[in-house]
Amino acid sequence: MPYVNADPHIGFALEIVQADIIARFKRLLGHEVFFNFGTDEHGQKVLKAAEKNGLDPQAYTDQLALKFGDLKKILNLSYDNFVRTTDAHHIKAAQYIWKLADESGDIYKKKYRGLYCVSCERFIKESELRNNKCPEHPGKELEEVEEENYFFKFSKYQDKLLKYLNNPRVITPDWRRKEAINFVKNGLEDFPISRLKNRMSWGIPVPGDEDHVMYVWFDALTNYISSLGWPGDKNGNFKKFWQDGETLQFAGKDQVRFQSLMWQAMLMSAGLKNTDKVFYHGFINIRGEKISKSVGNTIDPFKIVEEFGTDALRYYLLAQVSPVEDSDFTFELFKEAYNANLANGLGNLTSRIIKMAEDNLEEPTEVSGENMPQELLNHLEKFELNKACNFIWSKISKLDGEIQEKKPWESKDKKVIKNLVLDLYRISKMLEPFMPETSEKIIQAIKENKKPEKPLFERK
Ligand SMILES: [Zn+2]
Repeated sequence: MPYVNADPHIGFALEIVQADIIARFKRLLGHEVFFNFGTDEHGQKVLKAAEKNGLDPQAYTDQLALKFGDLKKILNLSYDNFVRTTDAHHIKAAQYIWKLADESGDIYKKKYRGLYCVSCERFIKESELRNNKCPEHPGKELEEVEEENYFFKFSKYQDKLLKYLNNPRVITPDWRRKEAINFVKNGLEDFPISRLKNRMSWGIPVPGDEDHVMYVWFDALTNYISSLGWPGDKNGNFKKFWQDGETLQFAGKDQVRFQSLMWQAMLMSAGLKNTDKVFYHGFINIRGEKISKSVGNTIDPFKIVEEFGTDALRYYLLAQVSPVEDSDFTFELFKEAYNANLANGLGNLTSRIIKMAEDNLEEPTEVSGENMPQELLNHLEKFELNKACNFIWSKISKLDGEIQEKKPWESKDKKVIKNLVLDLYRISKMLEPFMPETSEKIIQAIKENKKPEKPLFERK
């Protein structure tokens, strides 16, 4: 879930497209899916960004939530629910999980002095400091905070968290799980979960104490269950998808401590089931540098889609970007892959085959449901999205080679042409979760036995 202190950038598009593929893939396999997306809207970083833009934080987040909501259309996302952490129901849920943690004896008040990184929205421990700065944000000053805050008894969950992390299924990729285990083994410190309202007002009120608002992470992480209707379960979604279902969260590689430790300890404290799996993606760098508004190297997904189309961006983020390691993104790399693999590769193959079919076959080739090859399923089960795409593109090259070899435009052999159409159909079915619109266009052309008027991907 994105933190809304700036417009959506390409790195965020990666996370949500990855989640979308997995949701579509699970639905294709016949599972019922509840795909939740939304915006994380509280905290000091949002408050500062709002002030900079001369808006009150509610008006500021209203604007950004609309922009993030627009991603549904431009990235063709299939999510079922959009949660905002400023929604009344979410606020109620965050206050309720606080109450449950309090009843478990896990919340206490303590005077505290610490160094706060606004960019991370967390206190940085002395042992983590590098040149007195946050290890993730060496260019930013830390804020010295001295307050009496509520604390969460994180340290109490040390053993339970190790037990949870002992299961290899809870984190993908596995080296992030080892990272999480190391965090715990290095010792967990209780952390503050409130801020004094008169110092930082943009947060959910702490139940029973008007002087405090909740720490943004404590509130935001609750979205995974508030979106399912918890507390209470009017639609039965919480029981169906959280308690009885299999849960999967998508997050950036810098979120291990929040998603796999803090949130899991909160669930333990509230007596709720833990997350079944968290998938951590790598970051997209621009020419080797971290995407940053201040560096001015952000790439706007809206602009790319405007010029190249939704499926071209989806393709690039899945096929050309590592799902778990950092990857570099440049406009040149994008354009090169677009021309080679979409305009020439898939686009060219489609128009050649359909043209031959249109010219030589009296009737459309009959096609119907096709099972996904096991190799593709295996890659998807392991979140190897780039390998899954490579597999599909190996089929595209193979088919290209077959056309060269059999020269059906000379022989006009109907059986050969029919088989080419069937192979193209198989490819379009494999493409369905990755590039739904393109897949549909190819199937439509096959069913009409007519070459589309416009190429699938114009050469750029
Ligand atoms: Zn930081």
